[in-house]
Amino acid sequence: MIEVARYLSVNRIAYFSMEVGIRQEMHTYSGGLGLLAGDAARSAADLDLPMVFVTLASREGSIKQQIDADGNQIDGPDPWNPEEWATPVGAMVAVQIEGRQVWIRPWLYELKSARGPQVPVLLLDTNVPENDPRDRIITNRLYFGDQKDRIKQEVVLGVGGVRVLRALGFTIDTYHLNEGHAAFLSLALLDHHRLNRIPGIPEPFDYDVHAVREKCVFTTHTPVEAGHDRFSYDDVRAIVGDLIELDQLKLLAGPDHLNMTQLALNLSRYANGVARRHAETAQKMFPAYPIRTVTNGAHVPTWMHPAIADLFKTLAPHWAYELEDLLKADQVPDEALWAAHQQAKRELVDLVRDTTGVAMDPDVPVIGFARRMTGYKRPDLLFHDIERLRAIAGRRPFQVVMAGKAHPRDFEGKAMIRSIHAHMRSIKDIPMAFLPNYSIAIAKRLVAGSDVWLNNPVPPLEASGTSGMKAAFNGVLNFSVLDGWWLEGWVEGVTGWSIGSDGSDPSPEAHAAAMYAKLESTVLPLYHEDRARWIWMMKQTIAKIGAVFNSARMMRRYATEAYLRA
Ligand SMILES: *Cc1c(COP(=O)(O)O)cnc(C)c1O
Repeated sequence: MIEVARYLSVNRIAYFSMEVGIRQEMHTYSGGLGLLAGDAARSAADLDLPMVFVTLASREGSIKQQIDADGNQIDGPDPWNPEEWATPVGAMVAVQIEGRQVWIRPWLYELKSARGPQVPVLLLDTNVPENDPRDRIITNRLYFGDQKDRIKQEVVLGVGGVRVLRALGFTIDTYHLNEGHAAFLSLALLDHHRLNRIPGIPEPFDYDVHAVREKCVFTTHTPVEAGHDRFSYDDVRAIVGDLIELDQLKLLAGPDHLNMTQLALNLSRYANGVARRHAETAQKMFPAYPIRTVTNGAHVPTWMHPAIADLFKTLAPHWAYELEDLLKADQVPDEALWAAHQQAKRELVDLVRDTTGVAMDPDVPVIGFARRMTGYKRPDLLFHDIERLRAIAGRRPFQVVMAGKAHPRDFEGKAMIRSIHAHMRSIKDIPMAFLPNYSIAIAKRLVAGSDVWLNNPVPPLEASGTSGMKAAFNGVLNFSVLDGWWLEGWVEGVTGWSIGSDGSDPSPEAHAAAMYAKLESTVLPLYHEDRARWIWMMKQTIAKIGAVFNSARMMRRYATEAYLRA
């Protein structure tokens, strides 16, 4: 265990997440949840927080998206090779799955801050020769397969993760369950805390539930009902057997289904949502549990374009670790900021040309939209009224770049991708492109090279969203429905613009009308006719959003409000 020895001298917080977006070459992420975990790890390293991250190896990634001539998403595996990026750790642990012993080998990735400190990330892998072929594939594809496959993955993450940490000699002060996916870890801890029952005294539990609650904190990430894992007890028992007795499990995870969110809430001392509005929504869903708020943040040094970062380096050499320095954005000369932005924009224009053949003009505003292609995010809302859209572009031109993947079984999301492609083909007078296979690398180009970052989910379903923060770090102006983090970051006409008002009619008709009206009367005129004011807004958004919606602030809040015990 020589590989991890240097991490064993202090008690650590173990952050469990199905996905962690570590780097472009490691396909251990699918989307926002993974990038959030990655940014949490990057800031934990910057701040030298005593943490260890636990996730799956996902050797075949999540999905590799190709788009055929008809706009259909073709999804295939997206392999990467742990050998190239991580170190095998000389320890294996086993969990029981369907009565078989399934061995788990961890890989170690050491995530290093540019400032020096590093945090260990353990990638759990069942693809070892000791395992039955059925079990070697458990950790291959992120979120793949049916409910049973999902249970197996979550057992490897939760139960396997706890055992791996123990086997390696980690002392864990607090476990952070990043989403309900990780909730099996609390059962592994329960199993460890079996009570010596005092005969004759009735107790609901055979376990020291209190001791486990003291060790766990939980972050919920979605107000969408389908986003919460619910498993049938028959499936769970067929796969894990009696990790704890069924009657006891039902008391913790619900009478009819094993609800992973419920389990996590019952076995955590602290629970939070990822933006204020989301915490309010979650509080209504789970009235019996206090739900706090830690609004998400993104890692500024990762998402800010180097040309813009250089401007801050001149002003404040240590800005990347003293993000309050971003409040000095006012002192950046207009021409320098515009030149840096145009450099980022030319890189996006080049990427669009090289991947899609579409020619874009760096002097015409680019509207960027990139997120998971799924119903509530309404990626096709921009095309609600094509004639209106074309009329607006006829008066003041703009261009559109989109990207995003649909989950393999999200047929509505896939239909939206098809319809976006059909619109893009038929609208000849607005340059438009869809970049396939959205990834960290494409996100970096898009959030830096767009001018306007569009977001139009159905409120209150966007728990937080983070891509708008990444855009803001680059002076890209958010134009968004009031939901998630934007309710907190939005200052109208200063950091960006709203679509509709808080509580206004959320129908596609109403939101599309509000979007077209403001695009036409406010956003495009400002870009084309008042560049000085536009650049002033770019500085406002970098300063106000960068100094607050960063993952260093987020991790400091987790450290003082969730990890630190009163
Ligand atoms: C930031 C990011 C996301 C999350 O974007 P949302 O705004 O939360 O939808 C998803 N995928 C990638 C590659 C990202 O960088």
